[in-house]
Order: sequence, then C-alpha cells, then structure tokens
Amino acid sequence: MSIPGWLTAEIASLRGAYDARRLPHAILIHEAPGSGGDWLAGWAARLVLCSNPGDAPCGRCTSCQRAAQGQHPDLALVQPLESSTQIRIEQVRELSAELALTSHQGGYKVGILSPADTLNRFAANALLKTLEEPPQGTLLLLVATQPSRLPATILSRCQKVRIRAPAPAEAIAWLEATRGPGDWGRVLAVLGAAPMLAATADPAAVVEVASEVRRGLEEAAAGGGDPVAMAERWARSELPLRLSCVENWLTERIRGRLGGGGDFTKVRPGAHPRGPAESLDLRQLFGLLDTVRELKSSFDVPINRGLALESLLRSLSARSA
Ligand SMILES: [Zn+2]
Repeated sequence: MSIPGWLTAEIASLRGAYDARRLPHAILIHEAPGSGGDWLAGWAARLVLCSNPGDAPCGRCTSCQRAAQGQHPDLALVQPLESSTQIRIEQVRELSAELALTSHQGGYKVGILSPADTLNRFAANALLKTLEEPPQGTLLLLVATQPSRLPATILSRCQKVRIRAPAPAEAIAWLEATRGPGDWGRVLAVLGAAPMLAATADPAAVVEVASEVRRGLEEAAAGGGDPVAMAERWARSELPLRLSCVENWLTERIRGRLGGGGDFTKVRPGAHPRGPAESLDLRQLFGLLDTVRELKSSFDVPINRGLALESLLRSLSARSA
C-alpha cells in the first residue's frame, strides 16, 4: 500500500520525534472517519519495531513484515471483540500485562487501541493506570473519530495527532496508486471523503448500487415504483451502502432548498424547478434524514429494517398540502 499523501506532515513529525528520542508514551490519533488513522498507527508501530533504525520503517525486515500482518510479538491490537461494540476491561488488563513484560526484541512494546472511543468506562479507567505509569519503552496508539467520548483524564495524557479528510484529488491519487483505476471520485461521493473505506470497496459495484438507489428514490418520490419490493431488496443486500446513498440524496435535496452547495449552487431558491421530491418541505426532508441516520447507527439493534425502509420510501411520495 503506498503512503497516503495527505499524511506526509504527520509522518514527518512522528519520525522527527522518534529520531530525537522524544516520542511520547501515548499518542491519540484523532481522524476524520476513514481517513487513515489505523494506517498511521500501523506505520508508527513499524517505525519503532523495525530492525533497520536508520531506514525505519524499511518494510523489508522480519519485524516490519510481522507488524504489517499484525503478528509481531511486541505489538498488540485491541479492538471490540466480534460480538461487542465496546473495548472491555479484560482486554485492557491483558494489554497492560503484556506491556509490563520485557519486549521480545529488547526494544519497544506497542499497543494499538482502535477505535479507542469504544473503550467503555471501566476499560478507560484501567487504561488510565498504564497511561499514568507506562513501562519503559511503551508506545500506546489510540485511534478515534470521536475522542470527546473519552474521559478528559485519558486525553490529557496523550499527545494529539489530527488527521483531516483529504482533498478529493489527494484521495483519488492514492486510491489509483493503491487499487488501480476506477471511478473513485464517484465512490468517494457515495461513501463520504473516506479513502480507507473506499479502498476496501469494489468501485464498479458501488457506482452501480448508487445509481440503482438514485433511480429508486426518484421513482418513489414521483409516486411510482413498488415500495414493498424495493425495501425488501435494499434491506437484503448492501444496506449500509444504500443508506449512505439515501443520506446523500436527501442532503442534496436539502441543500437545494436552502439554495447553497450541492448540485443546486446556481439555482436560486425562488427559481427552483419542481422535480421529484419537491412536494416535501424542508422539515419533512430533515425528518427523513434523521430516520436514515438512525437506521445507519442501529446495525446492532434487532429492528425490522425492511419495514422502516418501506415507510421511508412511502413518505417520499407523500404530498403535502
Ligand atoms: Zn523494517
């Protein structure tokens, strides 16, 4: 995987601190979603574990390769277990015990916690003990999109690194270098400015689903289509992606009404042509946007998504007075 261009400054600053032996014990990487927090944490881990310090991370030595595969004995990855949305206290205790042992290589011991904002209260308390008295040679890397969810006592003991979403051109250049050609601009528009997420997607499939969802929404807004069949189909396959598409579509409509941004920049609100979904007022559009966002954030809750989608598609064609 090639180096993400938008992380150049952060990489240089970490390398500078490491060369000057001023690397802190704990770093909080605050990233925009999908913009490379985990990548930077992995890079920092390889930086300190690499066997060729002059060239670290060289990417060729056994340490670099094992770290890249997540199989280095001095590197621990802590993330929510499959059945959970939280990092639990037992996991943090295990990490702390591991960090207290002598390193296998005689160098650093590294712990990556991601997403660190899923640490529950007890786990955060347990981590605090390690942050207050880190064993010699410890590097803790916390990756979070919403660090404000973490206790202030944790935040104050970490050095902060901020990663913003890259400009589309930078993200597209990196995606082309990493994954090859594709309609990456369109993929990023669908998934949000999240190149790391886009890198795991099939660009042609994303574009196809996005077009299908758009057609379906236009049709439903015009009072056509079969909301029941459509909702069933959407709930069965690629639902998170489809919900992002619905979210983008609604956001475009709202921007159009507000007369700024999106596809409607040149259209004055008064001169706005009435098209699909124009029967919905702003309040209704915002209400639908809330519904979509709730559906997106409730993937671990057992609700009938088909039914929720069906009701959403039906409200698109509901004519207001
Ligand atoms: Zn190396």
